[in-house]
Amino acid sequence: MTNIKSSNLGYPRIGEKREWKRALEAFWNGNITQTELIEKTDDIRLNNLKKQQEQGIDLIPVGDFSLYDHVLDTSATFGIVPDRYEYDGGKVDINTYFAIARGLDDAIASEMTKWFNTNYHYIVPELNGAKPELVENRALTYYKEAKEKLGIDGKPVLLGPITYLQLSKGFEADEFAGLVETFTPLYVQILQELQEAGARWVQIDEPIFATNVDEEVIAAAEKVYATFAEEAPGINIIFQTYFEKVSHYERIAALPVKGLGLDFVHGDSLELLKTYGFPKDKVLAAGVVDGRNVWRADIGEKLTTLETIKQFVQDDQLIIQPSSTLLHVPVTKTLEEKIDPVILGGLSFADQKITEIVALTKGLNEGREAIADDIAEVDAALNELQATYRSNDDVRKAVSNLTEKDAERGAPFAERIELQDKLFELPLLPTTTIGSLPQTPEVRGTRTKWRKGEITDAEYEKFIEDSIARWIKIQEDLDIDVLVHGEFERNDMVEYFGEKFNGFSVTEYGWVQSYGSRCVKPPLIFGDVSWDGPITVKESVYAQSLTNRIVKGMLTGPVTILNWSFVHDTTPRYDIMKQIALALQKEINALEDNGIKIIQVDEPALREGLPLDHAKWDEYLDVSAYAFRLATATAENDTQIHTHMCYSNFEDIFDCIDALDADVISIETSRSHGELVSTFEDNTYTKEIGLGVYDIHSPRIPAVDEVKQNIDRALQTISPKQFWVNPDCGLKTRKEDETIDALKVMVEAAKATREELLVNETK
Ligand code: GLN
Ligand code: ZN
Repeated sequence: MTNIKSSNLGYPRIGEKREWKRALEAFWNGNITQTELIEKTDDIRLNNLKKQQEQGIDLIPVGDFSLYDHVLDTSATFGIVPDRYEYDGGKVDINTYFAIARGLDDAIASEMTKWFNTNYHYIVPELNGAKPELVENRALTYYKEAKEKLGIDGKPVLLGPITYLQLSKGFEADEFAGLVETFTPLYVQILQELQEAGARWVQIDEPIFATNVDEEVIAAAEKVYATFAEEAPGINIIFQTYFEKVSHYERIAALPVKGLGLDFVHGDSLELLKTYGFPKDKVLAAGVVDGRNVWRADIGEKLTTLETIKQFVQDDQLIIQPSSTLLHVPVTKTLEEKIDPVILGGLSFADQKITEIVALTKGLNEGREAIADDIAEVDAALNELQATYRSNDDVRKAVSNLTEKDAERGAPFAERIELQDKLFELPLLPTTTIGSLPQTPEVRGTRTKWRKGEITDAEYEKFIEDSIARWIKIQEDLDIDVLVHGEFERNDMVEYFGEKFNGFSVTEYGWVQSYGSRCVKPPLIFGDVSWDGPITVKESVYAQSLTNRIVKGMLTGPVTILNWSFVHDTTPRYDIMKQIALALQKEINALEDNGIKIIQVDEPALREGLPLDHAKWDEYLDVSAYAFRLATATAENDTQIHTHMCYSNFEDIFDCIDALDADVISIETSRSHGELVSTFEDNTYTKEIGLGVYDIHSPRIPAVDEVKQNIDRALQTISPKQFWVNPDCGLKTRKEDETIDALKVMVEAAKATREELLVNETK
């Protein structure tokens, strides 16, 4: 019998039924006090720990919990608070903490961006000359809490200094090394305090090393971790990476740390072991259970992989764990009652993954026979799942026959836009929104009632129609040029399509955190995807019937639907992307047949899906652009195709955006101010574009001048003939009055700029 340990890297914060989200929102709305918020979230956190303890995980992560985001927590640990929040040192109080995340009065929220290739968003630290100090050792607080309350000798989790700084902004490239030096003693202090409190293991997350980092970054890590080894020799550091195999493997393997955490699910870490071996003095923390997907692990096969991995380590110095934190999967499948039992049998959420890890550890320590029953049970479930895979030969054939031509529109952009201009007669700087309008408690409550059968289909439809009608009127009164129906009928932009295409399944409680309190419920793709009849036509046509202005049809694109679903690996991902594109093509045709002339196909997930390994970029970007073009190719030349993406650093994918061949694109910018605009100085973009002119993630209402400045700044590099005025993203999370006030400001700013342009033109 060996002494291989089980471990976890992080547990979802949100609670089994999103209790965390409810508590946060109740606090923000003033419905519960700070004390109540703390009580409720303490309960959730302790319950998360207890579940891992009961299952028998040896190294339970502590300090992974957060009230918003772990990157923001790291900033709070070091007192990194931008000046505009008037912070004056000491522990960052909860209101300041939430102000950074959400904005407060005139102080706009910090920029938020996607965490590596996930749909999780973190708050970008703004260093701007900040003087970091250790103002709160959160890891220590949580370590002690777990020990005192539950008798757990936890494994504190820290976001490593190199990754933290690489994800921060507000400094020049040549200041990086100096900043690393500034933060090093603060981390040392955290480690020493943990060591004194009795912690034996600490997990330092450095996922940046799963991207292609340059020499300076790896050199910085060598320096920092050497200092940690000298200054805090009594604590076992696990240098944790995930989401891809590491770059600079040999140098990382030589770092003076106790353990190295590698992802054996995403990226070929096993190949690294085979090529370079594994150092004799280290523990290998092997991430073998997928922390990013919801399908049950084939325990027998994983055990075989582990047996191979084990040959590379000395004296069973092995820890078994998920490939990443479980933050990116839902909490537990035990609440699912409606899903097909065969699919349920093939699922594994966070709690089930913990069970898998415990079983694998037992299997490796005691031998395969010790978990023979588990293996047999999993095999049976997975075989049954496989036998019911919903294949569709027609779709498969259609995908395999696709050619380049199939993804081309009838005429090039220059010709299309002329026809479109003639048809729509829009003013200069046309105003529009991104699609969704506020999903008020009434909207969500009515949907819940309908789902529970408390109101009839007809009543629900009537409610949706009334909401559409009310907002068409509001948008007309606001004098917005291109209107939207508001997406009131949609719970979520991906799940809504998932429920209606063939090949998908949906869960009831399969939520994962996206940003702040906002969670998404990715559908499952288990079958070939095809179109089963119109999905969005009814609402779009109804909205269009109420107004003389143009109403945009609203779809989610193939790349986003794929990236935001939990896809089974039975069929290659890129084939499924094309299947989705063909299904969307039919939906677009149906919209056009019913008189919808502007159709937006959202692709907010295109960039986050970019593989972390640069070597895989070209293929991904080519296929993604192809799939988008395929979905939109059969649209008439005078039908205007819009797309939307919500992020700002798109230098990396500029060519791909161009290759989408969308007539109009809207993108988010307001949280990163002018950075994006400068991209246009270096690249020529000839199609139409709307840069978000105000931040919808914050409840704050912008001033007219502020919005106008954003427009003016954009117009320095983009021609007014190409430019659209729109918010950063959809408005579903905002309150109605906030939305109306902010849109009023936006339209006013657009009109003021328009007037200036016309005056200048006649001069
Ligand atoms: N049309 C969607 C909406 O407005 C787009 C959302 C998104 O980009 N994430 O909600
Ligand atoms: Zn968006």
